[in-house]
Amino acid sequence: MSNKTFTLDERLYDYLLAVSLREPPILAELRRETRADPLARMQIAPEQGQFMALLAKLTGAKRYLEIGVYTGYSSLWMALALPEDGSIVACDVSEEWTSVARRYWERAGVGHKIELRLAPALVTLDELIAAGEAERFDLAFIDADKENYWAYFERCLELVRPGGLIAIDNTLWSGKVADPDDHEPTTEAVRAFNRRLWGEGRVELSLVPIGDGLTLALKKP
Ligand code: SAM
Ligand code: CA
Repeated sequence: MSNKTFTLDERLYDYLLAVSLREPPILAELRRETRADPLARMQIAPEQGQFMALLAKLTGAKRYLEIGVYTGYSSLWMALALPEDGSIVACDVSEEWTSVARRYWERAGVGHKIELRLAPALVTLDELIAAGEAERFDLAFIDADKENYWAYFERCLELVRPGGLIAIDNTLWSGKVADPDDHEPTTEAVRAFNRRLWGEGRVELSLVPIGDGLTLALKKP
């Protein structure tokens, strides 16, 4: 028994997956296809996808905003979890990676729910705000370039409704955030983001040690 969060070894991680993961075959296939890409580790973990899908259902989310699509693994989990009249705005800059995502969205029959915006996410988010979309999203997921995390967070805080949820990925950054000798710019960016968010009074906060660390920030009503 432990009353603090502990690291899972391989055996326990496999057990966790064996008794809880219910990954739809098309998501498993997307994961297999992406594995050939040297950057496949950018994809969220399957148990994290399932957790986020559960969060979407738990909160009754209809409108989901994603920043960082890659080959579409997280967005496909969410698209399958949203109700039939749910919708997604998905932001990325890569035509190549998102062409894989688009193929899987179509095959899964959820393409009609997803609007892909190929542009720097800050541009898209500012366009959404200018178009009157503030407070119209229920759930947002930040998973693109870490240097812009705070800027994404501030826009998301405008775009989600009061009581809406912002999930921020990689906030444990493979443990490097706690290494005092690691001064890589990306590590510093994640560290600064975490510290600043801790002092942000407009949200309720929890850092969930799933995947590479998933911070949940609930916009106070
Ligand atoms: N959520 C995805 C998944 O689970 O499969 C992984 C996203 S991956 C970590 C980050 C993505 O952010 C990449 O696809 C990259 O092209 C995109 N990206 C990087 N900089 C960006 C920017 N300034 N605006 C929008 N997207 C960006
Ligand atoms: Ca990530």
